[in-house]
Amino acid sequence: MALTLALVAHDQKKADMADWVARNHQVLRRHTIISTATTGRIVAEAAVDIKIQTVKSGPWGGDQQIGAMIAEGRIDALIFFPDPLTPMPHDVDVKALLRLALVYDIPCACNPSTADLLVKAGLLGN
Ligand code: PGA
Repeated sequence: MALTLALVAHDQKKADMADWVARNHQVLRRHTIISTATTGRIVAEAAVDIKIQTVKSGPWGGDQQIGAMIAEGRIDALIFFPDPLTPMPHDVDVKALLRLALVYDIPCACNPSTADLLVKAGLLGN
């Protein structure tokens, strides 16, 4: 079954997201991917066979747009690699995004090893 997955990574974690996407593109290409603008560009470069839609960049409202999609039931899982070592001007948006993933109880992976587990468990298809 095709899912809609939201992929978001902060600047210092974008390389991790590109690596994760590159090693899982055969699974990801069966799904619709929604990303914040800069993450989306990097995901598209990491795997050209992936269908990707972008929203605004995170600090410009993109995290809130994805949060709204979660509230509307349009996102099946969130892959979000926040940077725990860098202060961010949009910290409130980051908290709100994570909060909505909890409120709506969607699978939410916040680092590559957990995102790998979602794939290995077959939760994103085989
Ligand atoms: P970006 O946004 O992918 O446009 O960098 C992510 C974020 O900072 O939340």
